Amino acid sequence: MKAKCLFENNFNIPKRISSQVKSADCILLLLDYDGTIVPIQKTPDLANLSNSMRKLLISLLSQPNLVTGIVSGRSMKDIKEKVGIPYISYIANHGFEIQSGKFKWQHKILDEIVPINRKLIMSLKQAFRNAEGVIIEDKGITISIHYRNLKGMYIYDLKSIVKKIVIPYSSIIKVSGGKKVIEIKPRINWHKGKAIIELMKLLGLKNSPLIFYFGDDKTDEYAFRTLAANCITVFVGNNRQTNANYYLNDPKEVEIFLRKLNKILEKV
Ligand SMILES: [Mg+2]
Repeated sequence: MKAKCLFENNFNIPKRISSQVKSADCILLLLDYDGTIVPIQKTPDLANLSNSMRKLLISLLSQPNLVTGIVSGRSMKDIKEKVGIPYISYIANHGFEIQSGKFKWQHKILDEIVPINRKLIMSLKQAFRNAEGVIIEDKGITISIHYRNLKGMYIYDLKSIVKKIVIPYSSIIKVSGGKKVIEIKPRINWHKGKAIIELMKLLGLKNSPLIFYFGDDKTDEYAFRTLAANCITVFVGNNRQTNANYYLNDPKEVEIFLRKLNKILEKV
């Protein structure tokens, strides 16, 4: 099914969605970070949350029947610093870490993977010590190799070096790609979609809430696929080849939508 625009003309929320919002006992609002609520930047450290979006998220947090969660590939420490709102729920590191208020959860594979990743980081740093524009990010359970600003090397060569380094551990570790990034992750069937179900267990959300999920990348497609058809899944960007049922064009439109959602909830 082709994704539909989440807005009707003039940035209006369609009636069927606003009435779902009004009648829901509980709403779970899940937002990816990079490319979804913050525009993609040259390097990940430059992607900062705008003050207006932070204020809006804080305002949404005060809605009694709404739970807001940030779902990111970044490490827990990194995403918490970037968002800077302690009481929001976080699904970090592609779903391997969850934190919501006093609840903390980590996938049990962590103990096995972290020492291996230490070794991989050392090898990667050695291999790319002279490569310009390669950023190796140690996220504990996963490793990201950012190459947005790569110079003097072919992406193909970069990828094959990474694959060679990972080969000895390929029974437990896999390499995958995202937007100008190579991800090294545990070879298990775990993703943002499964982590959302884990978060719902942690929060004790039994009476199936109305779920909104906004995301812009390949990893978000797992969440789009996992979430039931009656969830409102929203792809952010221009590619219409998505498993989401709706789309918005950019983080600006996400902010407009969230502002309108907040207004609807204030009136309920
Ligand atoms: Mg993203």
